[in-house]
Amino acid sequence: MNFTELVRDVYQKIENIEDRGEMASYIPELAKVDPTNFGVHISTLDQIHFGVGDCYDKFSIQSIAKVLALILAYRIVGDQIWNRVGVEPSGTPFNSLVQLEVEKGIPRNPFLNAGAIVVCDILLSNLKHPKEDFIAFVRNISQNETLDYSGTIAQSEKEVGYRNVALCNFIKSFGQIDNEPSDVLDFYYDLCSLKMSCKDLSELFLFLANNGLGVHNNESILTESQSKRINALMQTCGFYDESGEFAFKVGLPGKSGVGGGIIAVHPDQYAIAVWSPKLNKKGNSYRGMKFLEEFTTRSELSIF
Ligand code: GLN
Repeated sequence: MNFTELVRDVYQKIENIEDRGEMASYIPELAKVDPTNFGVHISTLDQIHFGVGDCYDKFSIQSIAKVLALILAYRIVGDQIWNRVGVEPSGTPFNSLVQLEVEKGIPRNPFLNAGAIVVCDILLSNLKHPKEDFIAFVRNISQNETLDYSGTIAQSEKEVGYRNVALCNFIKSFGQIDNEPSDVLDFYYDLCSLKMSCKDLSELFLFLANNGLGVHNNESILTESQSKRINALMQTCGFYDESGEFAFKVGLPGKSGVGGGIIAVHPDQYAIAVWSPKLNKKGNSYRGMKFLEEFTTRSELSIF
């Protein structure tokens, strides 16, 4: 498969379609990004590293960071994590509160805001210096010291984070948050403010195509079984109430963020990151979804 040529061809095609998405304006800082940005980068296990467009520009990865938080918490507490957060698709938007009432503060899955907030609570209880330890973990997986939080984005989200405050307090009312909600949320906003380029993302997530083994040193980041489970969760829950459609049209485990980034992983083959800030109605990158649909259709490779 000539991935390089395919990435270039599909990029050109999608660049020319009308972008019907809308910027995520509920976080003021995200609305300031140039809406015409469009980048793609692929990293394969057989050492192809190739990108086009704005693939070296760092952007706010937002909910893509929820996967990294889950991975660190899973390493630390193992299967106990599933007592605090479920593994079912929710069929609801990322910031929904509705199921929590009936399900008594156990979020359906770790990629909803509710689920990621619980994961942040677990990390807060288990790490001495959560903010520092988390970024050290992320830098270590990717051997990339340039990765960092954005204080400006975290602050911007905090100022308007009314729904996340509601979610965290609601979960706490069921006894399912151990730490102070304000501390949990500060850590959650830091997490979501991580900035990466498409190149950073595809290199970082390549270990999930490699059965959980770090691609730089073959060190185990997750066990083979854990790595499969993270991919399964990305497949079933990575796009909220558009997860079914993503499986149907793209056919890969993936995760989106409201900054317009998407990471997708083809086990045993590659990781690919796409960034285009305008979002479709479900909060996923409009052009990112179109790119990946075309990419996996033309490559005729998917996990199915
Ligand atoms: N930080 C964002 C929020 O809490 C993350 C949402 C997303 O990327 N889908 O609303």
